[in-house]
Amino acid sequence: MTPPSAAPRDPSKRVCPTCEEPSPADGPYRPFCSARCKWVDLGRWLDGDYVVPGEGAIDFDVVAEYEERKAREGGGDDTDG
Ligand SMILES: [Zn+2]
Repeated sequence: MTPPSAAPRDPSKRVCPTCEEPSPADGPYRPFCSARCKWVDLGRWLDGDYVVPGEGAIDFDVVAEYEERKAREGGGDDTDG
């Protein structure tokens, strides 16, 4: 019987999410190993989340205005006379 040489995963050990190097559990930048890695990760999600709404975005005020105007101009379409 041979004991395992090393545990594959130690839950008490943390690794930096950015560079995946061991980071101190009580470090000032945890869970990152350094300030640099912290900012790298921050910039990563800022890029994806803070998107500027473009022409594809629906403006509900415009939609309401359009519906209102259509109702006004359309009048009655089922009445005769
Ligand atoms: Zn790192």
